[in-house]
Amino acid sequence: MSDFDVVVIGAGPGGYVAAIRCAQLGLKTACIDRWVGKNGKPAVGGTCLNVGCIPSKALLNSSERYEDMRLHAADHGINSGDVSIDVEKMLARKDKIVLELTDGISALFKSNKIVFYAGHGCLVEAGTVRVSSEDQDDQTLAAKHVILASGSQPVQLPGMAVDNKTIFDSSGALEFPTVPKTLGIIGAGVIGLELGSVWRRLGAEVVILEAAQSLLGSADSMIAREAKKQFSRQGLDIRLGCKVTQVDNTENGCSIHYLDGENNESIGVERLIVAVGRRPVTDGLLDSNCGVALDDNGAVLVDADCATAVPGVWAIGDAVRGPMLAHKASEEGIAVAERIAVGSSNIDHSIIPWVIYTHPEIAWVGATEEELKAQEIPYTVGLFPFAASGRAKAVDATDGFIKILAGRDSDQILGAHMIGSQVSELINEAVLAMSMEASAEDLARTVHAHPTLAEAVHEAALAAHGRAIHKVNR
Ligand code: FAD
Ligand code: NAD
Repeated sequence: MSDFDVVVIGAGPGGYVAAIRCAQLGLKTACIDRWVGKNGKPAVGGTCLNVGCIPSKALLNSSERYEDMRLHAADHGINSGDVSIDVEKMLARKDKIVLELTDGISALFKSNKIVFYAGHGCLVEAGTVRVSSEDQDDQTLAAKHVILASGSQPVQLPGMAVDNKTIFDSSGALEFPTVPKTLGIIGAGVIGLELGSVWRRLGAEVVILEAAQSLLGSADSMIAREAKKQFSRQGLDIRLGCKVTQVDNTENGCSIHYLDGENNESIGVERLIVAVGRRPVTDGLLDSNCGVALDDNGAVLVDADCATAVPGVWAIGDAVRGPMLAHKASEEGIAVAERIAVGSSNIDHSIIPWVIYTHPEIAWVGATEEELKAQEIPYTVGLFPFAASGRAKAVDATDGFIKILAGRDSDQILGAHMIGSQVSELINEAVLAMSMEASAEDLARTVHAHPTLAEAVHEAALAAHGRAIHKVNR
């Protein structure tokens, strides 16, 4: 039996980051993952690197460049002639990025002396993990601590099984060999909007059917309204309040039947993506006697510190409560490693940022205006439109705005909501400000470089005090 201080099950952004931090802190660490990459070899990096954050952002970038060349290059006096897209090459670029990054994590494992096991990990009991794989006998690892980081997988809908020919989940939708003429998507959440944008930009007619009555229910409603307006203008056909009842295969794809209010409707599409959320992965992860429990959503039950009820067993990332985001998984991994090694660490779960990488991008952190109203917290709003920013004008990025919410009495920043170009980067300034418990005045008195898009954050903070410079304050 091999002995370790820590065994991590899962090498996604939760597990691999936890393993590296454990090793940095001097703990003898192993990490187990069963993922097999597109090249047929074991791969680290989990959902995020293999079929999530990274490949989707690679395709978002390729498709954005294509659309920009086609629609906007001429505005700059650039005559690009006939622009066409080579989908095979675009996918090969994505795959190369994925391989370079996953190989990079393997190299980090080696340099940190983390022992990697390719196979399925199961917690037998506190301190004992079994690794099984097709080409080796089972191995048993002893560990003072075990970190469960088994991640999540797409939710499937009954009667709409993913076949990766007509009906796809998000992984399959990153691999379309050609641009479909028509594409249906069930779910206008983060994946529906990001992947819908990719294939629309490349030429597909995209219809998104969303059961909820409003788009992006957890975003600030002003941002969600602006997003709906912008996406509709681009040609994304988002139908709200539409509940899919049945999908039938047809000669050219499938027919989607849905209820729009009380009306039965149907549309035919060449391909369909089901993007209705993700659920924790726990199949074969826990021996029935190991003592670790699941919550009502099938997630591993943990306390605020990511500890399970079994001493020495921890769980992090998509496998536990909270938002299913790579940076949340990684920060929990770091925190657990530090709790194991030095006894304490801290994450403020109330200031985890969200980003949707559409165009314009959407990002937020902290409370929405609706949440402040519901909690009867008095607040001020600072709004600044990108249309009034010099840099935004210079780089064709005038869509959208920044909204900062600050406590009316304390002036402390309580939330920041952004829609526009590069807000995936700008949101981090708001996260830092909030983590330092900064006030709108602190942000307003911070010198921002000119000309930058970040000046819009500065102006929104000034606007919270009615003193934005480049817009009329009302
Ligand atoms: P995962 O990344 O899912 O990793 C879990 C690992 O555990 C997997 O490698 C799996 O093989 C392994 N595993 C599971 N069970 C076992 C077992 N019993 N034995 C051995 N190995 C096991 N998040 C963002 O923050 N930003 C984004 O832009 C973003 N884009 C996304 C785009 C898409 C299309 C998708 C699908 C997701 C995206 N996400 C994004 C979400 C992000 O990928 C997840 O939140 C993140 O990967 C969770 O990390 P994790 O380590 O908890 O789990
Ligand atoms: P989601 O929860 O973001 O959205 C799912 C949507 O599907 C919701 O709007 C929901 O109302 C709708 N829906 C559910 N059932 C439906 C039905 N039967 N018919 C019609 N609509 C239905 O889930 P997702 O888009 O699948 O993404 C999963 C998770 O992956 C995200 O929540 C996020 O945690 C993560 N992710 C993050 C990013 C990012 O950070 N940029 C990108 C992609 C994925």
